[in-house]
Amino acid sequence: MPKAQAAVLRQTSTPMSIETIDVGPLAPGDVLVRVRAASLCHTDLEAIEGALAVPLPAVLGHEAAGEIVETGSAVETLGVGDRVVLSWNPHCGACFYCDRAQPILCRQYLANGPKGFHFDSKPRLTCEALPVHQLMYLGGFAEYCIVSAQAAIRVPDAMPFDRAALIGCGVMTGVGAATRVADLRWGDTALVIGCGAVGLSAVQGCRLAGAGTIIAVDPNPARRQLAQAVGATHACTPDEAIDLARSLTGGRGADTIIEAAGRPEAFRLSVEAVRPGGQVVWLGKVAVNDEVGFRWGSLMQEKRITRSSYGGANPATDFPMLARAYLDGKLKLDEMISTRISLAEVNEGFAALKRGETVRSVVMFG
Ligand SMILES: [Zn+2]
Ligand SMILES: [Zn+2]
Repeated sequence: MPKAQAAVLRQTSTPMSIETIDVGPLAPGDVLVRVRAASLCHTDLEAIEGALAVPLPAVLGHEAAGEIVETGSAVETLGVGDRVVLSWNPHCGACFYCDRAQPILCRQYLANGPKGFHFDSKPRLTCEALPVHQLMYLGGFAEYCIVSAQAAIRVPDAMPFDRAALIGCGVMTGVGAATRVADLRWGDTALVIGCGAVGLSAVQGCRLAGAGTIIAVDPNPARRQLAQAVGATHACTPDEAIDLARSLTGGRGADTIIEAAGRPEAFRLSVEAVRPGGQVVWLGKVAVNDEVGFRWGSLMQEKRITRSSYGGANPATDFPMLARAYLDGKLKLDEMISTRISLAEVNEGFAALKRGETVRSVVMFG
């Protein structure tokens, strides 16, 4: 099994160090993936800062694409050379929630994720014979990573690795919020709060689902411009959002709101700007023990509110569909890549993400 250069987080709030780790061996259901691109997402930042508890040392990175270089003895669905996008939601397929098509709530997935190992609790990565954990069953900031075969989804060979990587988390979550979670109808008025990678993807999900009007809300004018480049019909600041939504809907408010900002004021805006009987999908989050206050009246009138972590993803079918949509020109991903960086630049990349300077930085591997 190979050695790999990896960005290893050894202590929260300190830079990751580039180290050589040992990868493997493979369990029968695993695949070895040569990572070709891995993008920087806010959830990694939460792990770096300690807001998301991850056992250390760990390799972060959960938005990645690469190619299969070896398969475990029981793997029949994938072969060497397959181009894959990685999913951070392996699931058992047999528990209460898997039975109900809610793999994001899978018992095994939720029980083992915080331990930073696979379902069998056995480490796949080591450094000087000591175990190294994988964030979200993945660990994309390394030249090689091991995932269970079901978490490696084949996409067409024509799909560029850097844009493929985005599909694995932010794009799936945003597009899925509109196409899988929200009951969006042809011609609806949709409003998306927050125009980072997830919000820009939600704008595109609304477009793909047939929304007639799509209002993108962000305080940053460059982000609003980007949202209009990928399909928003209108764009405004948070302060203007309620008035604009009402002015376009005979005073009612938007039919569907997708929140992708992760701030208390964004959650409040979402329920104020939706029409009576409309629906709200929350994708953002604040710290789990934080409280968010609402004006009670803003929650009334038959509004439906759903919180989703992965946009109702079914990666096995959705990732190839999203890749196809990109290749057909229907899903715009080029616009979301702010910069391509080397693994050694990963810490600077997160600093830029924290400052709000980048939508997505993508680590490129040779
Ligand atoms: Zn993510
Ligand atoms: Zn399950």
